Amino acid sequence: MVSIKFEQGTVIAQETLTPSIFRTTIHAPNIAAEALPGQFVNIKCGAPASYDPLLLRPFSFNRIDSEGGTFSVLYRVVGRGTELLRHIRVGDKLTALGPLGKGFVLPEQSKQMGPAAKPSVLLVAGGMGIAPFYPLATALVTHGLEVSLLYGARLSSDLADKTELKALGLRVLCCTEEQRGECPSLVTDLLQATIDAGDRFDLAYACGPRGMLSAVKRVCKDSELPLQLSLEEHMACGLGVCLGCSCERASDEGYWHVCTDGPVVWAEEVKL
Ligand SMILES: Cc1cc2nc3c(=O)[nH]c(=O)nc-3n(C[C@H](O)[C@H](O)[C@H](O)COP(=O)(O)OP(=O)(O)OC[C@H]3O[C@@H](n4cnc5c(N)ncnc54)[C@H](O)[C@@H]3O)c2cc1C
Repeated sequence: MVSIKFEQGTVIAQETLTPSIFRTTIHAPNIAAEALPGQFVNIKCGAPASYDPLLLRPFSFNRIDSEGGTFSVLYRVVGRGTELLRHIRVGDKLTALGPLGKGFVLPEQSKQMGPAAKPSVLLVAGGMGIAPFYPLATALVTHGLEVSLLYGARLSSDLADKTELKALGLRVLCCTEEQRGECPSLVTDLLQATIDAGDRFDLAYACGPRGMLSAVKRVCKDSELPLQLSLEEHMACGLGVCLGCSCERASDEGYWHVCTDGPVVWAEEVKL
């Protein structure tokens, strides 16, 4: 059984990947040992003895090195917590709670997907929705699957991680809202264009803003493509106690709690 750890880790790397995107790597062997693609970690972004900010902040695992005892988080600075996290120095201590939530279901574990000789998998990322896809793509490639990534952002300077994902062997198509002309500028339009061009997939995964996920859900439903979504809701505890991250179930039978029932859910299970 996987257990959640409160661990005081050590920051071992701080990287600036683009002018607005940062990656922090933490040595926290107890959390790293059990982290799975799609799960997340709650991080105390301020100094260990400080209560500023009071609440821990949730981040997807962007890199997991279970044997080396480290994990990384990839983030954009949007407020107090991420600003503090960005400035923590290598060697400083940092408290984290994890691994939290339910991660991605891999094709061999998935009942929704029909039999296919060599399943072809599609990842759709919007903005910081790219964060959980590196560990997922690594797992999929290790299982010998063909993986394509559609990755959209507002600005080209907001596109992070694509070189490393290409190096894994993924087919990567990017788009930005800066683009003008014939290429789709929204990742949801790129998705539609890819399907219209005749590309076929057996399973899709999407992560990004809610409006984007809703559009991806529509396109995948029309194409009868099974889809898992990684959801983001504001959350305080990450443990199913505060109920701040409720999300309506599609079946009208109450709510999912993104922290414990998700963040990854099958698209047909939620109202978006
Ligand atoms: C399961 C999960 C995984 C996440 N993974 C990542 C990740 O890998 N990388 C990343 O950059 N961000 C991720 N987020 C969002 C991240 O938690 C917030 O950006 C962060 O908490 C902001 O903290 P802050 O103190 O800097 O900003 P705050 O001052 O708390 O907020 C600044 C602004 O960001 C908005 N915001 C804060 N939290 C969220 C949220 N959860 N969803 C949507 N908007 C929010 C606020 O409304 C406000 O407008 C994830 C969230 C969840 C729930």
